[in-house]
Amino acid sequence: MVKAVVGANWGDEGKGKITDTLSKEADIIVRFQGGANAGHTIVNDYGKFALHTLPSGVFYGHTTSIIGNGVALNIPVLFKEIKDIVDRGVPMPKILVSDRAQIVMPYHILFDEYEEERLAGKSFGSTKSGIAPFYSDKYAKIGFQVAELYDEAGLKEKLERVIVQKNVLLEHLYHKPLLNVDELFNTLMDYKKMVDPYVCDTSAYLYKAIKEGKNILLEGQLGSLKDPDHGIYPMVTSSSTLAAYGAIGAGIPPYEINKIITVVKAYSSAVGAGAFVSEIFGNEADELRRRGGDGGEYGATTGRPRRMGWFDCVATKYGCRIQGTTDVAFTVLDVLGYLDEIPVCVGYEIDGEVTTDFPTTAKLEKAKPVLKTLKGWKTDIRGIKKYEDLPEKCREYIEFVEEQIGFPITMVSNGPGREDIIYR
Ligand code: GDP
Repeated sequence: MVKAVVGANWGDEGKGKITDTLSKEADIIVRFQGGANAGHTIVNDYGKFALHTLPSGVFYGHTTSIIGNGVALNIPVLFKEIKDIVDRGVPMPKILVSDRAQIVMPYHILFDEYEEERLAGKSFGSTKSGIAPFYSDKYAKIGFQVAELYDEAGLKEKLERVIVQKNVLLEHLYHKPLLNVDELFNTLMDYKKMVDPYVCDTSAYLYKAIKEGKNILLEGQLGSLKDPDHGIYPMVTSSSTLAAYGAIGAGIPPYEINKIITVVKAYSSAVGAGAFVSEIFGNEADELRRRGGDGGEYGATTGRPRRMGWFDCVATKYGCRIQGTTDVAFTVLDVLGYLDEIPVCVGYEIDGEVTTDFPTTAKLEKAKPVLKTLKGWKTDIRGIKKYEDLPEKCREYIEFVEEQIGFPITMVSNGPGREDIIYR
């Protein structure tokens, strides 16, 4: 049984918490895309953790955590993350890293910084983790797979070739210090020592696990609207955020993914630039930001304040469809308990016409939200375990959203903890 946990929105939907909750019954948890540019915040018995590279399942003794081939692997970040959790009392997790995963090179991070600097006001709001330069190089076929660390002669020769190109850009476009092959080679040899205990053919491992009937969770990063094909291009991330890509980024047959749990947040938040139709500002936004998530809506990696908005039925309906949703996990609902009335975006007005279909970027930039106001429930719903015990107005909010998006909400998350979940 393979389940994917993915986001319907702009990321930060609470996927980490849902994966952590579902990990109880999982044998293997796989990261299949993205890199250390986004993070998951997880609260459990060991404390509060922000993970950027490790899958959320590392806190359970019984699970194996896999970094799939689709991931942008930052080896020192992985190494530090393992050390940090072990130092804080978490038992050493079982971790496997795909020998086909590609390595985030030190210069990917530099190029990310230099490019943001060059673009200045027109930048994409990159987290400067090297993700866009990394995926560019991967598809330009000048990336480095983990397996290449084990062929030292070949590695050095390829480095020499690739560095020529990088240095032209450094010298003439960015006017920055040049790269040195020996230095990079030595850094990669250090990376090899760090990653060596974990490297294997994870696709073969997963294939065998599927045949043995193991429970496997694929953990996505960010959400549908950040997908390079189906999101708000170009304000997207550089690897596919969709469950379908889970098959590629983990190296498993697509037909083995039989449950797609799309995580949807009860209000909206986004980081970085790009159209955000239901965005709110001023005091209204500040209050939601302060009360949001677990300790406020600030980026897990960057600490940046997130942009806030009301729930967007148009974006979420689309986000769920493009994921191939079988189940919706509706999260952070408890946060809305302070509001007398809750506006929800039910349509987009574009050039005088109202639509409920999510448009391409140029049209999206022109969209104005059509809002409908629902009644708030004005109580703290944390601690409630049964759907029927939720306040009536709260159930009405859930059922309204469910009808608008057209996918079944089977889980409601009413707090940041593992046990704060209501199954429907
Ligand atoms: P992810 O990247 O999708 O995993 O999302 P983040 O970790 O960035 O953001 C989710 C935030 O909301 C984290 O701080 C979680 O601890 C918190 N969170 C998740 N589910 C809930 C919930 O149901 N209620 C509350 N109050 N916080 C939640």
